[in-house]
Amino acid sequence: MAKNIWKDIDKKEVFSFCDGYIKYLDNSKTERLCEEYSKCLCEKKGFRDIKACNSLKCGDKVYFVNRDKSIALFVIGEEDIESGINIIASHIDSPRLDLKPNPLYEDMGIGLLKTHYYGGIKKYQWTTIPLSLIGVVIKENGEKININIGEDDNDPVFTITDLLPHLAKDQMAKKATEVVEGESLNALFGSIATDEENDSVKKALLEIIKEKYGFSEDDFVSSELELVPNVKARNVGLDMSMIGAYGQDDRVCAYTSLKAILDIKNPKKTCMCYLADKEEIGSMGVTGTKSRFFENSIAEVIAMLKSQYNDLILRRTLSNSMCLSADVTNANDPNYKSVCEDKNAAYLGGGLAIAKYTGARGKSSTSDANAEFVAKVRGVFNSNNVLWQMAELGKVDQGGGGTVAQYVANLNVDTLDCGVPLYSMHAPFEISSKADVYMAYKGYKAFYEAE
Ligand code: MN
Ligand code: MN
Repeated sequence: MAKNIWKDIDKKEVFSFCDGYIKYLDNSKTERLCEEYSKCLCEKKGFRDIKACNSLKCGDKVYFVNRDKSIALFVIGEEDIESGINIIASHIDSPRLDLKPNPLYEDMGIGLLKTHYYGGIKKYQWTTIPLSLIGVVIKENGEKININIGEDDNDPVFTITDLLPHLAKDQMAKKATEVVEGESLNALFGSIATDEENDSVKKALLEIIKEKYGFSEDDFVSSELELVPNVKARNVGLDMSMIGAYGQDDRVCAYTSLKAILDIKNPKKTCMCYLADKEEIGSMGVTGTKSRFFENSIAEVIAMLKSQYNDLILRRTLSNSMCLSADVTNANDPNYKSVCEDKNAAYLGGGLAIAKYTGARGKSSTSDANAEFVAKVRGVFNSNNVLWQMAELGKVDQGGGGTVAQYVANLNVDTLDCGVPLYSMHAPFEISSKADVYMAYKGYKAFYEAE
């Protein structure tokens, strides 16, 4: 059952910590914006770009940026790095609607944008809400154009229509997976045809793009433009105890692990905070956790700490390291009790949630942490007054999910899933408890400082 942890915590401290988190969410609607904002926060705390360093020593604070979409921060500890690194890995990509390479078309005098959804979404949740268009367009000569339309109150927004209930007899009889089809997720983009001869809305919209943003239709093929919910992070509940926002999976664990590494002082072990991309589509690609970037950045740190480098030092460092895979989990929802087994589910406001395993159908595709390591982490949390709970993602055979844990664990790093429970995960407006957000920060900080 849910424990009420509010009686054991300083509400003022928790609320003030969460003000910073709310600001982070509003500045981090995409993985690129989140990387950029995280970099700004760490630079203010004295972290330096690794590119500006020739060597490293105890106490140094550095970061590695990977293609503007992921970032790894290190604080060099007192002990030899070969004794292991305390790693916290989270992800900064969130479910959304990406524009297709040829997105713009016209139908019935309306200009529309074709999309391909990214990550696991309930497609019907993404209609009839305001959307911002954020991302980059890269021209053939390499010039980068940053696009951010919707986040400023004076900007227009975009949206995807849905059918009126009066004519939805057939639609409402469909399965929820088919109520809104992927190819119907086309966003309204404009409706004025200025060219009298051609009477073309598409042409008129391309003229606005050329004039305001300086690119042409061909340039869409080398763009990454994302439609994301145009909702600001808000306090939820009369007592302001919860936060509602887009992208809390997994920027809640990104922010709390980032703040934790910014605040640690003189750790014994070297600490690494990894904010990865591409988790929602399987951690693939150059910016996902499966990318060698993870090992490469550790190798670079070793090479800058030691007079000589070899692969065995890297392998030993990894084998002696430990990692929290910091990702959100489901909070048992009073509206949907039937999908959880109440003795092992996590609860909103029940504290930082530890999941020994994730996966589906008999723990398939999970790293399933060692009991010894779970014991170590709970010991660290208990001796630092971190309020925590165990979590299982739904009843046996109800469904399931995965995190980056398995990919880090594959490198022979002890890894445990540990994050914030959410309601409405992957929806345009996800809910967290401020108590859990703060406990994540406290827990991650204690983990960095652990020996
Ligand atoms: Mn996640
Ligand atoms: Mn997710």
